[in-house]
Amino acid sequence: MPRLFERVTIAGVGLIGGSLALAARRAGLIGAVTGLGRSAANLRIAQQRGIIDRYSHDPLDAARDADLLLLAVPVRTTASIVHACGPALRAGAVVSDVGSVKASVLREVEAALPAGVTFVGAHPIAGTEESGAAAARLDLFYGSRCIITPGRSSDPAALAKIRALWEGVGMRVNEMEATRHDEILAWVSHLPHAVAFSAVNALLDIDGAVAEFAGPSARDLTRVAASSVEMWRDIFVANADQVDAAIARFISVLEDLRVTIARRDESKLSELLARAHAARRQWTTAPR
Ligand code: NAP
Repeated sequence: MPRLFERVTIAGVGLIGGSLALAARRAGLIGAVTGLGRSAANLRIAQQRGIIDRYSHDPLDAARDADLLLLAVPVRTTASIVHACGPALRAGAVVSDVGSVKASVLREVEAALPAGVTFVGAHPIAGTEESGAAAARLDLFYGSRCIITPGRSSDPAALAKIRALWEGVGMRVNEMEATRHDEILAWVSHLPHAVAFSAVNALLDIDGAVAEFAGPSARDLTRVAASSVEMWRDIFVANADQVDAAIARFISVLEDLRVTIARRDESKLSELLARAHAARRQWTTAPR
């Protein structure tokens, strides 16, 4: 496949930005990569690992001459990066992101976009609970899904290139409205994270010593509670209405289970568990 972007600037060279750079470079999809970030320590790791060629803490210096500015920072930081990099972006440059919330990012980034620059939002549904350039992995995206959420400023050529970038690192791409993305992700990602954080807190409230006996089920359920606090605070706030609705629905389902157990209603209990058991067994491709 021919090169899609010659000069890429990645704002936030962490797990996602770093993994994309590793995979896209390996596939020959991108040329020189500049990292923009806060801590020099993380950017040095990225350079040592061959994720980026050079780095800068100055947004104007980092974005100069880029034909792709990739925003891979916590979602409520994305628009401020576009503001800061804007004057250095050339007409025809493409701005894209990887954020886990799309509607608010689309609104805020499009408002901050300089004339002649196009924005295509994307969200690779792949990840781990680790953070930073040290955690970046070549194969992170392979076989998982990516959702692209075009906006008013997304021109067809830019859209096709961003699609080709994610397909080129092994993802299956779907396109949808940003609001639909946020509704779906509230259920399949944001709610599970809310449950994981809350399950750990509930356990600590009872007795911290209990955690020592956590076996595979507790560890599997709560794995993502070890994720970045900064990132998840931003996601919950940026998608608050959808997450609120999902948590409220979950509480009512959990309450139904609680009452069924308290009543020792074995028949209803079997029904509730069998319904979930059958559905979960059919999930053949759970995103990583
Ligand atoms: P990460 O590993 O913590 O990386 C984020 C990077 O952003 C860090 O290197 C951090 O730099 C940098 N950063 C934070 N604030 C910044 C700022 N104001 N200016 C410049 N750089 C800044 O996080 P991640 O998991 O890659 O997540 C990045 C984005 O991907 C988020 O929007 C998230 O919603 C999305 N996402 C995450 C996952 C996942 O499973 N983790 C999956 C899909 C999408 P420092 O080194 O200075 O802290």
